[in-house]
Amino acid sequence: MKLCRYDENRVGVVLEDGIHDVTSALDALSAQRYPLPPHDLLIAGLAGLRPALEAAARKSRPTPVEQARLLSPVANPGKVIAAPVNYKKHLEEALADKGIHHGNLIGEIHKVGMFLKATSSVVGCGEGVALVHTDRRNDHEVELAVVIGKRVRNITAADAPACIAGYCIGLDMTIRGPEERSMRKSPDSYCVLGPWLVTADEIADPGQLSISITVNGAARQSAHTSDLILPVPELIAWASSFYTLHPGDVLLTGTPQGVGPVKAGDVMLASLEKVGEMRVTCRAL
Ligand code: MN
Repeated sequence: MKLCRYDENRVGVVLEDGIHDVTSALDALSAQRYPLPPHDLLIAGLAGLRPALEAAARKSRPTPVEQARLLSPVANPGKVIAAPVNYKKHLEEALADKGIHHGNLIGEIHKVGMFLKATSSVVGCGEGVALVHTDRRNDHEVELAVVIGKRVRNITAADAPACIAGYCIGLDMTIRGPEERSMRKSPDSYCVLGPWLVTADEIADPGQLSISITVNGAARQSAHTSDLILPVPELIAWASSFYTLHPGDVLLTGTPQGVGPVKAGDVMLASLEKVGEMRVTCRAL
């Protein structure tokens, strides 16, 4: 199932003929009072809601995808975990280009670990990227994004696939410079998720997907997730040895070689096999 959020917080199921509004099925989600739980309510309830979502989709008329303003498929991720250098060729380009490394320590992921992006940076592809510090290099990083579906702690790599809710494309937008990664990668709109969530049952192996991005039609990054240094199950296991993973937590699995700058007016087109593609425009804030 392909699940999206769009326009004024509508929830839709994406079928061949467009987006089918299933917002009414969300009435079955439990009412919440302060304090809110540390997970995304829809992702946590997704397995139970699925029959109702599919039934609602069959009853509603489609909206063409291109007419919808797509929001992040996860409304309230508890955290966005990201793998910094998880493709060997990107490690090599980062070490070779001072415009990328800025004298920062760039090491293999086994040594440097993962980092967190602010959840306030999350947007959908229809919202675009609002660039800040435009006097500096702002880069696109296209990545396979994994959405966690279950609460897990200290999970093994062998058990990790069972805790995945689904997948989407992630853009880990980045200002190059000397500051901590988490600061340079966390401005509002610097984590684009979309175009929709593809549930895990539709992707047998997240390590067998081609991924790419163009900017204004010119090829920039083109790679395959079989080149990930740490594959998805290992990333989940490792992350869960440090913190509890909650439904709706997002894991950005790292970007391949070919990162490059964008400026206001640029249009990025990102593609991920079995997920689809998303068009994202850049503007100055
Ligand atoms: Mn990245």
